[in-house]
Amino acid sequence: MPREIEVLLSKEQIDARVAELALRIDAECGDGEMVVVGVLKGSFIFMADLVRHLKRQLTCDFIRVSSYDKDRSTGIVRMEFDLTQPVGGKNVLLVEDIVDTGTTLRHLLKHLETKRPASLKVCSLLFKDMGTDSRKLIDYLGFEVPRRYVIGYGLDSDGLYRSLPYVGAFKE
Ligand code: 5GP
Repeated sequence: MPREIEVLLSKEQIDARVAELALRIDAECGDGEMVVVGVLKGSFIFMADLVRHLKRQLTCDFIRVSSYDKDRSTGIVRMEFDLTQPVGGKNVLLVEDIVDTGTTLRHLLKHLETKRPASLKVCSLLFKDMGTDSRKLIDYLGFEVPRRYVIGYGLDSDGLYRSLPYVGAFKE
């Protein structure tokens, strides 16, 4: 039986916020080419919408790490695949779906910093305040969400629900 889902962020709210984020990124990230790096798989829909609003020259790349087993964090971050191009001296924008404890993001930032980009900024669609100080790692944030497991707009539960056009959570 499909589980009942409560909508937390509608498609319209998300569309409007993505456009605002792109305006800010274009205005604040200086001139020059940008490498937009999506963290797979959860960011793929957000990133596809975001890059289509950005007016600057950019290239896209992807990185994949895993730390979640079913719907729970294991706390151990495994690099599954890395960027396909050198980013040394370039402006990198890392695009995340959600920052929760911040473990994944810290790991990714440490890894990307070793590649010596000219700048490294973080854009995350969602942030869940888990009492860590991970909010400060995000330069561009879409929305803060409650401490519930969220799905949709790229985010999954056991591989499902990524294609929902909104962000929701399972009804209790
Ligand atoms: P963190 O390392 O910050 O605890 O977790 C980050 C990663 O865990 C995210 O990129 C995402 O893949 C996954 N994650 C954390 N919270 C949620 C959630 O509420 N829903 C979904 N679908 N994934 C989550």
